[in-house]
Amino acid sequence: MQTQVPAGLPESANFARQVELNRTIEGEYPLQKFTRLGESLVSSEGEVRVKMEFGYSVGYACFKAKVSATLLVECQRCLQPMEIEVSGRFKFALVHSEDEFELLPEEFEPYLLEGEEQSIIDLIEDELLLSLPMVYAHENACSDFMSRQQKEIEAEKEASHPFAALKALKADSTKTNKD
Ligand SMILES: [Zn+2]
Repeated sequence: MQTQVPAGLPESANFARQVELNRTIEGEYPLQKFTRLGESLVSSEGEVRVKMEFGYSVGYACFKAKVSATLLVECQRCLQPMEIEVSGRFKFALVHSEDEFELLPEEFEPYLLEGEEQSIIDLIEDELLLSLPMVYAHENACSDFMSRQQKEIEAEKEASHPFAALKALKADSTKTNKD
């Protein structure tokens, strides 16, 4: 199981510096790095494909990023594991204060620079959490599972039926005896 970020893939970076360097960060981060996301998953095995391109756009220091992953989650209908594909694209401009938010062209989301380095892991995780669908359920396999489950419930009901029938019979016979 891969738990370490591959060599050359930073977990954090000075974003302003990456813009100066016109740097592209591309690779696969292990899903296990994203612990908040992990709470919504059945398994944290796998990778998140990431591409971040730093540079200038219409005079703004910014970065574009793409994230995608195949996640194993619990089907909201039958509670069995299911795979979903999530992906997101976003474009952030680096800002130094909240006052700058309103000055940004609409195409950008503000990314507030704080501290020496910024966490790439947190950024990717936020975007993945946002791209999780609100509702997910199996398309076809789920109905198979549901009908199987339904049969099991019915079988259980039937199994408990003889006992109920016996009870009714007993009550009946008591009555008969009294008469
Ligand atoms: Zn299902």
